[in-house]
Amino acid sequence: MTTIDHIGIAVHDIQAAARLYTEGLGLSLDHIEDVTAQGVRAASITVGESSIELLEPLGEQSPIAGFLEKRGEGIHHISLRVADIRAAMAALKAQGARLLQEEPVRGVGGALVAFVHPRSANGVLLELSQPGEIGDKEMGEGA
Ligand code: ZN
Repeated sequence: MTTIDHIGIAVHDIQAAARLYTEGLGLSLDHIEDVTAQGVRAASITVGESSIELLEPLGEQSPIAGFLEKRGEGIHHISLRVADIRAAMAALKAQGARLLQEEPVRGVGGALVAFVHPRSANGVLLELSQPGEIGDKEMGEGA
């Protein structure tokens, strides 16, 4: 476990939300990506070793659309960077935690990600994220 990878914030409009960080705080919007499999457009704003990930729904079926409807804009999940996501998932399962995926799925920037159910994490949707390249190779698909 190295760091908090990012904090995911559900927003209605990425460009509008990003202005606070770019124009207001002088941070840069480094990466925008549609993760169609998860129904989200994600924008990464680097903050030191971590980032803020603004999440906008792609269509009404998006889990982000459901979140916005129920709770409005706000913190959607916290992502912890792990070196070996499968090992982390197995350890959590062994400890009794409920995961939303049996296998890691592809997230922003080619990361492998999996979510811990909020009921197992004090009401927080917790994401495990194994960064980049390895994920690309393992999943063998672009997005
Ligand atoms: Zn995330």
